[in-house]
Amino acid sequence: MSYRFFEDVNTNFDRAAPYVDAEPGLLEQIKRCNSVYHVTFPIKKDDGTIETVHGWRAEHSHHKLPAKGGIRYSTLANEDEVVALAALMTYKCAVVDVPFGGGKGGVKIDANNYTESELERITRRYTFELIKKGFIGPGEDVPAPDYGTGAREMGWILDTYRAINPSIDAEGCVTGKPVELGGIRGRTEATGRGVFFGIREACSHAQDMKDLGLTTGLEGKRVIVQGLGNVGYYSAKYFQEAGCLIVGIAEASGGLYNEKGMDLENVMTHWKETGAIKGYPGAESFKDSRKVLEMDCDILVPAALENQINEENADRIKAKIIAEAANGPTTPNAHNIIKQRGALIVPDNYLNAGGVTVSYFEWLKNLSHVRFGRMDRRNEENMMRKVLTAIEDASGNGISKKVSEELVQGSDEKDIVDSGLEDTMIVAYNELREIRRANNLDLRTAAYVSAIRKVAVAYDRQGIFP
Ligand code: NAD
Repeated sequence: MSYRFFEDVNTNFDRAAPYVDAEPGLLEQIKRCNSVYHVTFPIKKDDGTIETVHGWRAEHSHHKLPAKGGIRYSTLANEDEVVALAALMTYKCAVVDVPFGGGKGGVKIDANNYTESELERITRRYTFELIKKGFIGPGEDVPAPDYGTGAREMGWILDTYRAINPSIDAEGCVTGKPVELGGIRGRTEATGRGVFFGIREACSHAQDMKDLGLTTGLEGKRVIVQGLGNVGYYSAKYFQEAGCLIVGIAEASGGLYNEKGMDLENVMTHWKETGAIKGYPGAESFKDSRKVLEMDCDILVPAALENQINEENADRIKAKIIAEAANGPTTPNAHNIIKQRGALIVPDNYLNAGGVTVSYFEWLKNLSHVRFGRMDRRNEENMMRKVLTAIEDASGNGISKKVSEELVQGSDEKDIVDSGLEDTMIVAYNELREIRRANNLDLRTAAYVSAIRKVAVAYDRQGIFP
């Protein structure tokens, strides 16, 4: 039977629903996808041939506007996947208190098979189709990068949207843009950064770590990452900087494992030079990268695609913490197998919310037309200077130039974004942990409980037409 992603999302929903005090009809409405648009359009390739491209955009919920969610370029894209990912966005935004509905887009292509100009034509035409049907706009539906897309595509989307809707708020129609086109500093690395903050928080709870047979903190923990793209690379980078050992890497073209750890940047250089991570001299190479997921480690970070940990391999996965950086990497049956083994699954609809959180900051910046830090940075610095002078006067001791330079530094956009993201991930983790403890649940079910409760309240107050 082919994989049904939306069914898996709803299985998770159904596990949580009994813990939510809401009208059954309302729960049914929350579960459903409000609207989905499937479009086919022709694009002319550089050699003059014409190809038909399939694209989708799903808006799972409108309890808050705009709908929000990435656009994926993948040969696996289909309606079920887009709807499932849009549903995950609904729950994810609710978990981290980002005031958006859930949306997602997909275009069924392998981006590696097209030239840059072909990709630009596909992206612009897809955007145009979304505009025609009202599936994009700063107050309606705001896409972002996802698998196979990045800042470049978001720039094309903005340009196409603005050409047709040249409004003052047009910049807010898409997030994850290049900074010079209204993007925000810190968005590119935001999802991986959020994964790091979330797992650091999980590892800071002594009793939880003791239950897993692990020590508190990240230092020395052995990490395996699947998918070294945007999310996987930045997750691995922050884990390595925090003192973790990157012992395994699984990519589409092969995998690596070295129990003593390997240097991430060296692996990236090898990949760039040879076209594959396989053959990296500092580790054992695996042709079938799925084998790497089953190797010994403390933290496994699936950061590629859905359905990677399933009934077929779940009982061979040894990790004590599954850090779901990708969307839907663990099927519900695999979740049960891993849970029975006593491992901790930190779920996707919390853990990879860093991207949408910083997208929210970018959207706020676009609508307010001012960069974070611009109004108060110098003022902050002047105030700190005055405080230091007062301390020096009162104590009669001078403060060294080095120390005062460190202290007198107002926050710029990157600092503000980073601290907003850190706070969001810490607060949300502890909220879920509390629900988990109070109801004796796993963290995924706790995340769904938290999300459904919040969405139900929003629908009750404003989402039902009388
Ligand atoms: P990406 O395209 O930047 O990277 C994906 C990487 O996974 C690529 O390097 C690809 O070669 C690799 N890959 C593909 N199939 C693989 C396989 N079978 N085994 C091992 N590696 C494989 O994509 P991304 O933006 O990093 O997204 C990855 C996941 O994170 C997706 O599930 C996406 O929905 C989710 N996500 C992304 C963001 C974001 O901001 N980009 C936000 C939230 C969630």
